[in-house]
Parts: sequence; C-alpha cells; structure tokens
Amino acid sequence: KGERLRLPPWLKTEIPIGKNFNRLKNTLRDLNLHTVCEEARCPNIGECWGGGEFSTATATIMLMGDTCTRGCRFCSVKTARQPPPLDPNEPYNTAKAIVAWGLDYVVLTSVDRDDLSDGGAEHFAKTVSNIKERNAAILVECLTPDFRGDLTSVEKIALSGLDVYAHNVETVRELQRYVRDPRANIDQSLKVLRHAKEVKSTILTKTSIMLGLGETDEQIQDTLQELREAGVDCLTLGQYMQPTKRHLKVDEYVTPEKFAHWEKVGNDMGFLYTASGPLVRSSYKAGEFFLKNLLD
Ligand code: SF4
Ligand code: SF4
Repeated sequence: KGERLRLPPWLKTEIPIGKNFNRLKNTLRDLNLHTVCEEARCPNIGECWGGGEFSTATATIMLMGDTCTRGCRFCSVKTARQPPPLDPNEPYNTAKAIVAWGLDYVVLTSVDRDDLSDGGAEHFAKTVSNIKERNAAILVECLTPDFRGDLTSVEKIALSGLDVYAHNVETVRELQRYVRDPRANIDQSLKVLRHAKEVKSTILTKTSIMLGLGETDEQIQDTLQELREAGVDCLTLGQYMQPTKRHLKVDEYVTPEKFAHWEKVGNDMGFLYTASGPLVRSSYKAGEFFLKNLLD
C-alpha cells in the first residue's frame, strides 16, 4: 500500500468547547506547565478542559522533559540517548501549578528515561505526593513508562498516592515489534500493570490500544483477554493517526461502528470501563469517566 488513505468524514470534526475551557486556557500561561493536550494539538482539548456534563476538567501534563530515550514508530516525540538532566524542582513546581490551575483530574505522563537508574520513578512519585499534600481531592492518574520492567520503580509509583496507574500496551501482541521501540514488549507491559495492582489493590489500572495499524479482530480480542487476565480495570481504544510522513502509515480508518463494537466487547469482558472511538485518546475525558462510572 503506497498511497496514503484519505481522511474519513468522522475524523473531520469541529472541536467542541466546554465552559471551563477558556478559564483554564487563560490561567495556563504563567504556570510553566507543558500539556500534552496543547503540544499534541489533541482534538479533545475542548471537551477535556471544558469538563463536559460533569464539569470535571482533565488535562495531561508532561514531566521529565520533551526528549525520549526511545523511538517508537508511531510517536513524534524527539529522541536522544542522553536527554538533559531532570529539573529537581519540577515535582514541587508542577504540583503547585496544577493546584493553582484548578483541575479536577490530572494525568501525569512522561517520556521514557532509560538513561536514569530508576527511569524517573522517584521524580514521578514526588510530583504525585506533592499534589496530594496540597489538595487531596484532585484525582491523579500516572501514565508511565515500562521502567524496563523494574518492579521497584513500579512500586514507587503505585505507592505514591495516585488513583489510577496507567501504562499503554499501544497495540496487539503480534504488532509490538513493528510499532513500539524494541526495548518495549507486551509481556513487560503486562508485568508492570499486574504488579501495580498487586502492590496496592485499591488503585485502578488502565491501558490503551491504537487501532488501524493492521491488526486483526482476533488479535484484538486475544489482547483484550490478556489484559483482563492481568487485572487491568480500564481500557481505551482509539484510531492511530500518522503524526508525520516518517512515521508508520495508517493501515485502516476503523469505523465508529467498529469502535462501538469493541466498547461492547470490553464491557462484556468485565473491564470497569471501556472508552472506544476514533478520537479517543488514553486520557480522553478521563475525569469524567472516573466520576460517571466508578464513583456511583
Ligand atoms: Fe514516544 Fe513514549 Fe515511545 Fe518515547 S516511549 S518514543 S514518548 S511512545
Ligand atoms: Fe489532553 Fe488527553 Fe484530553 Fe487530549 S485526550 S485533551 S491529551 S487530556
């Protein structure tokens, strides 16, 4: 397949703007926070920041810099063997800014830092505990690297005070080598997710899969089954979008109907919640889902 696929109508959407959106946008400027929402020009920003019907403003904040030690074939983040050192004040400053910003639900994520002995786990954990000390009501999700399967790092994060431990398997088992950096693999990722739950049974675990990379229905089904067996609570499925010409091509634009099918499959399999749709991203309206599905 040499030709690029044409964008289907369901991906050409207007960005809806919720009521909190402008307030959050205006107060962001002075806080020196790097949101994935803005940097990735995420199409859900209006809904996430706006908070939707539950007024649960969600945003995703990037920790540990903008340069990754890995190079996944779907991801447009910069790569280097030795990114700049961590800013030791980042956990404190980020927590302060998040609390001042007025979010209800925050997703903390990062690049992979294979250059650091603990992969940055301590840094992540400090950020969470700083947020919770300032305002325990803010729900915190960490979307973490795999820490090369280092369970001490996983434990540090799981015990930091977070509410949701997220780590993305990204794609089905059969396409791992094709899609992710060779240092990542699904067994290592499942081990991380399983261990987080073992360390603290009350936290929720969550993962995300991109569709449209050439996976078959049977492969999706089997991967979901494996995730359930690893005790994963929450699942999101979204369309893979090629970030630049140098990245993996989209093999298929999966229809909204097909995404709805997978949402039903996920719910029937016993995930606490499954969010599945062309524009769904791993943190898509995470706060709202949390409130709607898990707290009633
Ligand atoms: Fe991108 Fe994460 Fe892969 Fe790094 S590890 S290249 S940030 S997807
Ligand atoms: Fe931000 Fe994630 Fe929502 Fe996109 S889906 S706007 S990255 S919180």
